Amino acid sequence: MQVMKFGGTSVGNAERIAELARIVKEAYTTDKQIAVVVSAMSGVTNQLLASAHDAAKGKMDTAIAARAALADKHRTAITTLVPDVSEQEKLFAEIDSLLDHFGKLCYGMHILGEVPIRALDAIAGSGERLSARIVAATLRAQGLRSRAIDATELVVTDDNFGDATPDMIETTLNVKARLMPLLKEGVVPVVTGYIGATKDGVMTTLGRGGSDYSGGIFGAALMADQVIIWTDVNGFMTADPNTVKNARTIPEISYSEAAELSYYGAKVLHPKTLLPLAPAKIPLYIKNSFQPDHPGTRISSQSGEWDADLKAITSIKNISLVTISGSGMMGVPGIAAKTFSAVATQNINVLMISQSSSENNLCFIVNTPEAERTKTALRKALEVEFHHRHIEHIVAQDGIAIIAAVGEKMKGVPGIAARVFSAVAEAGVNVIAIAQGSSELNISFVIGEKDIAQAVAAMHERFNLGRAE
Ligand code: ASP
Ligand code: MG
Repeated sequence: MQVMKFGGTSVGNAERIAELARIVKEAYTTDKQIAVVVSAMSGVTNQLLASAHDAAKGKMDTAIAARAALADKHRTAITTLVPDVSEQEKLFAEIDSLLDHFGKLCYGMHILGEVPIRALDAIAGSGERLSARIVAATLRAQGLRSRAIDATELVVTDDNFGDATPDMIETTLNVKARLMPLLKEGVVPVVTGYIGATKDGVMTTLGRGGSDYSGGIFGAALMADQVIIWTDVNGFMTADPNTVKNARTIPEISYSEAAELSYYGAKVLHPKTLLPLAPAKIPLYIKNSFQPDHPGTRISSQSGEWDADLKAITSIKNISLVTISGSGMMGVPGIAAKTFSAVATQNINVLMISQSSSENNLCFIVNTPEAERTKTALRKALEVEFHHRHIEHIVAQDGIAIIAAVGEKMKGVPGIAARVFSAVAEAGVNVIAIAQGSSELNISFVIGEKDIAQAVAAMHERFNLGRAE
């Protein structure tokens, strides 16, 4: 039994959906139990969200145009993929009703002049509800038995709209009750990625890019033999191939390595995808639906054979370095605690932390759009320390990047940090701050954004990560 998740570009148009059907059919010849999870067609979620935000600002045009464009996009796919006219009519009606609902929600926001988060989730998740119906119909047209299912009936989440967390116990019960009987009969369920519902049945989303996570959730709930994420790249690579020409695919990595990589900017996989899979030891494959014969990357408990001391180098941009400093900070307890609880209360994500041992500054990284909010929250939380001059400055520096070098071999091989930093120094790149996770799976450091390409290329070269000639 397996779960196959197809991302936005893998369902991007009729041609891509036809390829999806070919892939599923081929797998079906040897495995009759396949659950498919789909994203919205590429670009759709962005369009839906932009429509909602514009509507609240008084601009209904975006929603009106999006509605027409989305109807056209999905109808074109249907006419190409589903020959049966009565099936077509049924799908058109379903799509119209979903888009009607979308239009009404946007209109509601237009009248309110604001974007209620739960209404935003109802809008954001419409793309998956559209695509799942088309994919299931395509599989039927190709001779498989298939049914579209909304994950609102399966994935039970909390009410943290926009970034909801699933309750795996409830979800597993639902998945077993609803999907197992279908799978046993050889029916291919096509489930919407990205969405779930609260206990009361209100639709939620799992965060942008969350369909990967859905793939992991269904894989674990079904105790699948494997999960395959079908995307548009050949798996995890040693570096971003746009930056480093000879970057290569990593055939095998461990759950922890993959988690570090996805957390540190490799956009291949939603970082939460592995959470449900790793404890169940279910292997996850990343494969390219544009190049289905490429083996891609296998992610499991094993790190696998590898000929270098590092697995990969990634970078994150659009981040800011927040520094709290003051000569009176030394030995004053509680500054770090206050700082991070203030940041946590604001729901701001901290990407990296570093403190110098002289203790007169504490710095950490947040996403740039959250930098101002971070400073405001800190000024308030640390008012007393300011007053006593224990703290003198809170500043946020933009235009920086985190570089992370990842690999399990770091644990055993001494001198890796030295080689990383000498490579970076020889490339003439200045290092602003450094951190190493105690898991010893990654060394991460902060540099100027303009230096990313040089630093990554120099490290890639030094560790011989490139493709053998
Ligand atoms: N369609 C959603 C998004 O664009 C979820 C996904 O594709 O993973 O964020
Ligand atoms: Mg995606």
